[in-house]
Amino acid sequence: MEAKHDVLVVGAGCAGMRAAIEAHDAGADVALISKIHPVRSHSGAAEGGINAALGNASEDSPEAHAFDTVKGSDYLGDQDAIEILCDEAPGDVYQLEHWGAVFSRTDDGRIAQRPFGAAGEPRTAYAADITGHVLVQVLYEQVMKRDLTVYEEWFAWRLVEEGGRCQGVICWDLLNGGLKTIGAKTTILATGGAGRLYTGTTNAYSCTGDGMALALRVGVPLKDMEMMQFHPTTLAPSGVLITEGCRGEGAYLLNSDNERFLKDYAPNAMELASRDVISRAEQTEIDQGRGVEGNVLLDLRHLGAEKILERLHGTRELSMTFAGVDPIDEPIPVRPGAHYHMGGVDTDVWGRTELEGLYAAGECACVSVHGANRLGGNALMETITYGKRAGAHAADWALTHTTVTVPASAESDAARELKELLARREGERPWSIRDELAETMHVNFGVFRREDQMLRQGEIVAELRSRYENVVVDDKGDVFNTDLTQALELGFLLELADSMVVSGLARRESRGAHARPYDYPDRDDENFMKHTIVRSVDGQPALEWRPVTMTKWQPQERKY
Ligand SMILES: Cc1cc2nc3c(=O)[nH]c(=O)nc-3n(C[C@H](O)[C@H](O)[C@H](O)COP(=O)(O)OP(=O)(O)OC[C@H]3O[C@@H](n4cnc5c(N)ncnc54)[C@H](O)[C@@H]3O)c2cc1C
Repeated sequence: MEAKHDVLVVGAGCAGMRAAIEAHDAGADVALISKIHPVRSHSGAAEGGINAALGNASEDSPEAHAFDTVKGSDYLGDQDAIEILCDEAPGDVYQLEHWGAVFSRTDDGRIAQRPFGAAGEPRTAYAADITGHVLVQVLYEQVMKRDLTVYEEWFAWRLVEEGGRCQGVICWDLLNGGLKTIGAKTTILATGGAGRLYTGTTNAYSCTGDGMALALRVGVPLKDMEMMQFHPTTLAPSGVLITEGCRGEGAYLLNSDNERFLKDYAPNAMELASRDVISRAEQTEIDQGRGVEGNVLLDLRHLGAEKILERLHGTRELSMTFAGVDPIDEPIPVRPGAHYHMGGVDTDVWGRTELEGLYAAGECACVSVHGANRLGGNALMETITYGKRAGAHAADWALTHTTVTVPASAESDAARELKELLARREGERPWSIRDELAETMHVNFGVFRREDQMLRQGEIVAELRSRYENVVVDDKGDVFNTDLTQALELGFLLELADSMVVSGLARRESRGAHARPYDYPDRDDENFMKHTIVRSVDGQPALEWRPVTMTKWQPQERKY
C-alpha cells in the first residue's frame, strides 16, 4: 500500500473538492485523487450559474425552490433530498462568496440572480457566464490553503472491498506508470458524469462515468440510469454548450419560418420552460422539417451588443470560435445534445452507498434531487451541498473507526488483469468500439425513445461488450499512456450503457428525459412513480424498483 488516509476523495471537481474541504475541517486526514489536474475538472465548464433562494432579485424562498425542483423532476426526485438541498443552498452560496467567489452583483451590491428554465423566480446566482470556472478556482485555493494531499493525474481503476467495507482505491499513476494503492477508512466517489456515452455532448473527454462503474463493480447499485438529460442549446456542430443564461437574459428560439415555436409547446414559459420540454420541441421541429440544417436558431440580437458583451461574453466567444457566428449580428445554430446524467450511484442524503465506507457526491451520484429532469443551476448547487454533506459524514465515520486493510490479493489481481491487457498484441482498437457506442446511443437512446430501438441498442451493447473482451492497447509505455486509460474508460462506458438500456426498457411511460411518444406517451404515476435500481449480477445488469420519497407535494400535471 502506497499510503493511507482517513478520507479519500476520488475526483477533484466541485463535488470532490467541497467534500475534501469539509472532511478536513471536521478533523480527518484527507486526500484527493484526480485523473486530470483539479482545475481542469469539468465543473470548470459550467457557465450559467448556481441556484439558491437568496431572494435578491425577487421574493423567493427555499420552499418555492423545492417546489420548482420537484415539478421539474417530473415527480421522480426524492422530496426529502430536494428540501435539504434548497434549505442549505443559501448558506452554502454565501460560504462560497466568503471564500472569494466573485459573483456578479446587483446595483446595490448584492449577489445578482438571473432567471433560469422552469424556475418561478430569478434564483440563479452567477459569475457572468463562467460560474464553474470561478467556483473551481475558489475551491482549489481552499484545498491548497489546507495543504491537502492531491494525487494528481492518478487514474482510479478499482475499489478495494474487504470485510464488507470499502477500504481504498487502486490507481494507475499516469505520469510515472504503475499501479498504486491508497488505503482509506472512507472513500468518496466524485467522478462526474458520463456524457461521452454520446457523440453529440457538452461533456469533456474525461466524462466517462468512471465512479458509477467502479461502484457497480463492487455490487453497489445505480439509480435512474435511463435519465440522461439533453440540453436544448448545444452548438452545432461541436456540441459545445451555449448556456441557458442566454434564454435567462431573454434570447429567443426560432425555427426555419422565423417563428418562436415554443408558443406551441410551452405557451407560458416559452424559452424558459424546462430542458426536457424544450429539447423535445426542438427535435420535433427538426424532425418535421422546420429546422435549419438539422438545428434551430438561438437569437440574441435583440438583447443588444452591450448586454451580450457584459453578461454573455463567453457565449459570444464560443459561438465565434466554434461556429463562426457572432451572436451580436446573427442567430446561433443549436440543437439538443447529451448534457447531464440525473442517474448515478444510489446514495442516501449523507452520500452513503450500500457499501459501508463508500460514499458518492455530485454528478456521479443519484441522491436524487433531479429525478427525471434537472433544472439548470441545480447541479452546481448539488455538488456543493451534497459534497459538503458526504465529506462531513465520511469524516465522522472515519474518525470513529480505526483500521484499514488492503489484502495483497486485491493488488495482485489488479496487476495480473492489467498485465494481460497490455500483453495482448492483436485485437480491436478501443476507439472503434467507443465511436460505435456513442453513435448508436445517440440514435437509439436519444431525446425520443422507441421500444424497437432500445432493444436493438441492448443487442449492440452486448455485441460491443463481447468485442471489448478482445480490445488491444498499442501503447505499452508507462508515461501518459492515454491509450491504456481510454481502453479502461471504454470498459466503464459499456457497463453503464447496459444499465441505461435495461432501465429505459423497463420504464414503460414518458417522464422527464425519458420520452416514449410512440408507445407510452404519458406519465404513469400509478405504475412508475418509482426509481429504477440496477446492480451488477455476474457482470450483467439486474433491475429492481424503489419508491420515490414524497414529503409535501403530490404529483400534478406538468405544464409550463
Ligand atoms: C458545459 C457544461 C455547463 C454546465 N453549466 C452548469 C451551470 O451553469 N449550472 C449548473 O448547476 N450545472 C451546470 N452544468 C453541470 C455541472 O457543471 C456538473 O454536473 C458538475 O460541475 C459536475 O461536478 P462534479 O464535481 O460532480 O464532477 P466534475 O467536475 O466532472 O469532476 C470530476 C472529477 O473526477 C475526476 N475523475 C473522473 N474519473 C476519474 C478516475 N477514474 N480517476 C481519478 N479521477 C477521476 C476528474 O479528474 C475530475 O476531477 C454544466 C455542465 C456542462 C457539461
